[in-house]
Amino acid sequence: MSRPEFFLCLIGIAAIFFGVMAGLPALDRHRAKKAGQLLLNRPCPHCGRAFDAGAIRRARREREANVRDRCISIACSGCSRTFQFGEGELRAVPVFELFVGDKKVGLLYEPKREEMFWCSYVVEPTSLEAGEILWDEAVWNEVKFEVKAKDGRPLSTFTGGDFRAFCRKETDRLSFRSLWPIDS
Ligand SMILES: [Zn+2]
Repeated sequence: MSRPEFFLCLIGIAAIFFGVMAGLPALDRHRAKKAGQLLLNRPCPHCGRAFDAGAIRRARREREANVRDRCISIACSGCSRTFQFGEGELRAVPVFELFVGDKKVGLLYEPKREEMFWCSYVVEPTSLEAGEILWDEAVWNEVKFEVKAKDGRPLSTFTGGDFRAFCRKETDRLSFRSLWPIDS
């Protein structure tokens, strides 16, 4: 093989490689959409609103190692809660996990943009015992909590003035500073 031939060959291999890499996400989106079609008009287990075409278009294939193959994640257009859908089963997945000390005490669902720097979430305790920790004002006031992404990355944030109502159980929603679903 002559030198120019060799370089042409290299360029060809590179072109095929990048072509395949560029095509993979499109294939993933197509598969996610196909799996999502099974959910069309099925009610959201949380708010009851039917999954619509928009929600299905935004569905993504799950690539996490601990998730079964053929599993997609889909967000309800009604309550914005995220679900994993695989083998006919719908499971709510939290956007973030909340820790106090080393203990996982809360799960964050249903992100809602409030103001420029604030995003609110429904905060649910992981157990009754965890609830007692979550409804203690000191946890929020003194920022004794830590929010973590799904891969365990700690994210720095704090809560707004709404935690008193949360601790009185008047609301299940709390605002977090600069905590966006995209960082999950
Ligand atoms: Zn819903």
